[in-house]
Amino acid sequence: MKAAVVHDFTQPLVIEERPVPEPGPHQVRVRIEASGLCHTDIHAAHGDWPVRPTPPFVPGHEGVGIVEAAGAEVRHVTVGERVAIPWLADACGRCDHCVSGWETLCTRQHNSGYSVDGAYAEQALAHGDYVVPVPDGLDPLDAAPLSCAGVTTYKALKVSGAGPGTRVLVSGIGGLGHLALQYARLAGAETVAVDVTDDKLALARELGADHVLDARVQDVAAEVQKLGGAHAAIALAVSNASFQAAYASLRRGGTLVLVALPAEGRLELPVFDTVLNGTRVIGSIVGTRQDLAEVFRLHALGRTRVIRETRRLADVNTCFDEVLSGRTPARLVFDLR
Ligand SMILES: [Zn+2]
Ligand SMILES: [Zn+2]
Repeated sequence: MKAAVVHDFTQPLVIEERPVPEPGPHQVRVRIEASGLCHTDIHAAHGDWPVRPTPPFVPGHEGVGIVEAAGAEVRHVTVGERVAIPWLADACGRCDHCVSGWETLCTRQHNSGYSVDGAYAEQALAHGDYVVPVPDGLDPLDAAPLSCAGVTTYKALKVSGAGPGTRVLVSGIGGLGHLALQYARLAGAETVAVDVTDDKLALARELGADHVLDARVQDVAAEVQKLGGAHAAIALAVSNASFQAAYASLRRGGTLVLVALPAEGRLELPVFDTVLNGTRVIGSIVGTRQDLAEVFRLHALGRTRVIRETRRLADVNTCFDEVLSGRTPARLVFDLR
């Protein structure tokens, strides 16, 4: 089988032939149909973050495909079923985080395309208890971006406490932001979309944002405060200035949810204002299997739209350049069918 492999953090990925892997007792082998390109894959391939993966490894944590082999202990999925391989490859299943519905915080978790081989391949192994079934009729090319970009923003919206009649700022309308905006609208919130490129501002309008702000020429915090301030701000753009603007856009009692992961992001918090305003600042990392099941159901009901373009896995290196240059549509997806 073909796979895109990172051998060296300073070198391009190599497309190579690898032996078809045999699933262990708790694993399934998935024939990948679609594999989304998340910015995290680029950080993984470049070794950008403090905890680095160990080369050689196969990136990819937005894998969708058909189970073609299952180990003897696999109970929850069957051969022939379509499943998603998300960032959370597996967790211990026993710690207080795991048993309280916060498996994404488990300290013994493994991550697809980072600590275990991921979905930039024709076939991939995954834990039978941690793959998430994809409902019938859902396009694999849509399901792939939903497996990270979708569930991550869906969870961020959930933890933000946004509901009907609240005002939600979404900072960064890209692969994540275009979905965050849709989930905020589904939650019944008034939405404020912020970006710095014309096509993403246009996309925000097309997706029905109530207010669209261009951070190149507008003072985001001042404009949002004129509206009454944001009950919640979802920070998806990787710039310190955008974190500060999102924080300053909050109304009293508001919540800033940090999602974007710059290698060296910093947010300076004025303690006095944070205390007096009762501001909450929280981090949110991907989502659980249950969150992803909900994301898939919403999409199957026709409530969300995934903006994406397909590419060939063989072009993975030019795709990385495309994403880094910022000229991509919302999401790139490798079509492996
Ligand atoms: Zn991701
Ligand atoms: Zn655990």
